[in-house]
Amino acid sequence: MTVYPGNLFVVAAPSGAGKSSLVKALMELDSRVQPSVSHTTRAPRGQEQHGREYLFVNDLAFDDLVRTDAFLEWAHVHGHRYGTSKKTIQDRIAQGGDVILEIDFQGAVQIKKIFNNAVLIFILPPSLLELRARLKRRGEDSDEVIDLRIKNAEIEMKRAQDFDFVIINEMFEKALFDLKTIVHSQRLKYPAQRRARSEIFAALNIP
Ligand code: 5GP
Repeated sequence: MTVYPGNLFVVAAPSGAGKSSLVKALMELDSRVQPSVSHTTRAPRGQEQHGREYLFVNDLAFDDLVRTDAFLEWAHVHGHRYGTSKKTIQDRIAQGGDVILEIDFQGAVQIKKIFNNAVLIFILPPSLLELRARLKRRGEDSDEVIDLRIKNAEIEMKRAQDFDFVIINEMFEKALFDLKTIVHSQRLKYPAQRRARSEIFAALNIP
């Protein structure tokens, strides 16, 4: 198994739990954490741009990427296919950078099988009632779609047990602090410190 000097953080959550806002806030505070742009077969929404939110591809192009083993993982989510590019992530973490993926729980579990050192983080809402209220406030979905999202959320949340860390997004600032703490703690592990502060280790005669 290859051990890379950088960290791969994988964040999953049911829709409405606040995953995207938390990841975005983390990246604004910490430029060492970079996102990875996934491929998807769904059409762009609103202001989304090819290459920024996603690489939007058709079914044939997606099939080709699957065939050529370009994905670290891919999954069907809400009727479309989404996949994480292998090469960009491997290159970045091989150079000691940190990557954060915002993907669904199936993809997260697949990644852990390949990158045993990936750090899996599950974000939970404080309650189903609050999750429903957030989805309603977001105003993107009909009542029927919200019912479906809640039903899916109940199934997805049972998989939180496969993750390394759980953050309960009750108060945004507290949840962001938790996320920063997880990222920071990875950087305090022996191999990471040994690499980042090699001059201190050398001066202290530590191998
Ligand atoms: P949306 O279409 O709303 O942007 O995303 C729908 C779901 O697909 C979200 O849960 C998102 O995290 C997930 N997703 C986005 N990119 C990937 C990916 O590369 N792989 C997997 N497995 N899920 C993804």
